[in-house]
Amino acid sequence: MQSWVIGNWKQNPATQHAVNTLIDELQEAMSASLAPSCQLMVAPSFIHLAAVAAQLNETDILCGAQDVSAHSASTGAYTGDVSAAQVQDTGAHWTILGHSERRQYHHEDHDTLVQKMNHALHQGLGVIFCIGESQQQYDAKETLDVLDTQLKVIAEVTQNLDDTTVLSEKLIVAYEPVWAIGTGKVPTVVEVSDTHAHIKQTLASYHHALGSTAVLYGGSVNADNAPDFAASDVVDGALVGGASLKAASFLAIAEAFAATKGNK
Ligand code: PEP
Repeated sequence: MQSWVIGNWKQNPATQHAVNTLIDELQEAMSASLAPSCQLMVAPSFIHLAAVAAQLNETDILCGAQDVSAHSASTGAYTGDVSAAQVQDTGAHWTILGHSERRQYHHEDHDTLVQKMNHALHQGLGVIFCIGESQQQYDAKETLDVLDTQLKVIAEVTQNLDDTTVLSEKLIVAYEPVWAIGTGKVPTVVEVSDTHAHIKQTLASYHHALGSTAVLYGGSVNADNAPDFAASDVVDGALVGGASLKAASFLAIAEAFAATKGNK
């Protein structure tokens, strides 16, 4: 079974030089045996996207963006925005959408995310769609209700697609409890597994083609806890923030998933 380990670099590193060093270290340290059982991807910031996509072209590491414009899939008078077509043109073929930091700092809501996902898919980009509850919602045991609401973006996009089967290859869902992102706090593997089972069931209820969607866990994943998450049958990989900025920790997480999923 193939797993996914995706690095969300956020607004890091500060310089092109540091980006080049990270890419070089990843390529040097990555073992050839990783690729069949664990697909790696990195999502640099827009300023570094084209350079990283070019460096990773014809390697086993995919490249994705962290966002696309909601306003237009191609071009237009949208200062500061980057469209799905422009992302595709860099050679990056995926984008993260709906990350909790975008929801929090840029007030991205259901309608915005439907637009973004429609544009991304229209331009042939794959989408890593992030969902997750806040600490308050977790404490109030509202997690599944919150996720059901956030997943409705996928339900709406699916309804309007001519060919839903494309989604099964172009969609990844990342469950990222907001309270676990960058905090060092993680839910138990049992909690994550129950939540992933619910997400998979919900996606399958939208369309049978979505039943095989990869569901990743994200939130303070590191080299130490990755083997525990990898051991769960319903955790198909990890979306990694902080630990993706060092080649050694990122690759250790990938090795943990490759070791477990490669045997299944
Ligand atoms: C993220 O922001 O997607 C993330 C999972 O961050 P971290 O791994 O640093 O918690």
